[in-house]
Amino acid sequence: MKTLNVDLGERSYPIYIGEGLLDQGLMCQHIRGKQVLIVTNETVAPLYLARLQASLGEHYQVDTVVLPDGEQYKDLTQINTIFDRLLECRHNRTTTLVALGGGVIGDMTGFAAACYQRGVDFVQVPTTVLSQVDSSVGGKTGVNHPQGKNMIGAFHQPQCVVIDTQVLNTLPERELAAGLAEVIKYGLIYDAEFLDWLEENMDALNAREPEAMIQAIYRSCEVKAEVVAQDEKESGIRALLNLGHTFGHAIEAHQGYGQWLHGEAVGAGTMMAVDLSQRLGWISADDVVRARKILLAAKLPVIAPDNMTANDFMDLMAVDKKVIDGQLRLVLLKQLGEAVVTADFPAAMLEQTLAAGDQ
Ligand code: NAD
Ligand code: MG
Repeated sequence: MKTLNVDLGERSYPIYIGEGLLDQGLMCQHIRGKQVLIVTNETVAPLYLARLQASLGEHYQVDTVVLPDGEQYKDLTQINTIFDRLLECRHNRTTTLVALGGGVIGDMTGFAAACYQRGVDFVQVPTTVLSQVDSSVGGKTGVNHPQGKNMIGAFHQPQCVVIDTQVLNTLPERELAAGLAEVIKYGLIYDAEFLDWLEENMDALNAREPEAMIQAIYRSCEVKAEVVAQDEKESGIRALLNLGHTFGHAIEAHQGYGQWLHGEAVGAGTMMAVDLSQRLGWISADDVVRARKILLAAKLPVIAPDNMTANDFMDLMAVDKKVIDGQLRLVLLKQLGEAVVTADFPAAMLEQTLAAGDQ
């Protein structure tokens, strides 16, 4: 097992990463009271809920709530279901909520914990690659509103994160690839050596080999934690984590949420950011080839959907959160392993990038 400490002053917490951790009761040392509510969904519950419950032993009042599966249920109605259960079972302010599932369950459980009786503890047990390397680190929690994704939320840090790589064996192929898009992102924006390592180990990651998985998840969490520690509430450097995301969000919105997985859209979006970085003369043609190769090796799309025009992109990107005073800012690469957020690119060059996929 590997342990990584997320350094946020008095809100610091450990991330445990290893094979079979679900059964080891690691979270018990971080549970302050006698009450626990496990929040999970209909897909994950039959796979892992009993094991997690058993690992808590006899010391706690353990209650559970099983929500429907899907991004479309990441809303205030489900948050209320969690509150109903907490009140029904008379949970007090020393309760701990445990999120067992992917990013949807993690975000909702964290938000419910941030609100219940003005804030109670929570623990993350992320079960997708995406949630293990991304959403469980950094303390962003929340739900969607009919008028926008993740529009209602709070910053709330967990007491600990327990990452069991074994649970990834039941994850669908596409979800695995989507999570690897974020792993590759960390290499591209922050760590050229990690990118080399990923090139050598992508086959092992595709095969879900525990040792390679643990290594990739550890370094990914470490990079995210380092970035978040420098900028907990996203006023600057944290925006670098959005490489490929402005293009990617446009793809997701255009295709209709759920058609392209987030990570798939980020894969194609990353190639667009890479393309623009090369047009600016910051990275070489060889760098572009490397980026494409590694995304393809992870079984990710590298071109935007062919039903999308440059105009579709411009319209959809104009509403991005990184637009400040009407100026579109993008995360681009200075070199492989180093990113910047910039509005300093000629509009004509961006149009060339958008048009390159638009044939
Ligand atoms: P998800 O939670 O919807 O999980 C994907 C699918 O895999 C679901 O059907 C789920 O039931 C299933 N699943 C989960 N674990 C499984 C397992 N071990 N075996 C088999 N099936 C399993 O999606 P996700 O990609 O994990 O997370 C996406 C969400 O994360 C989005 O809502 C996004 O907004 C959020 N997110 C949050 C942050 C953050 O900083 N808080 C960062 C990135 C993404
Ligand atoms: Mg993302």
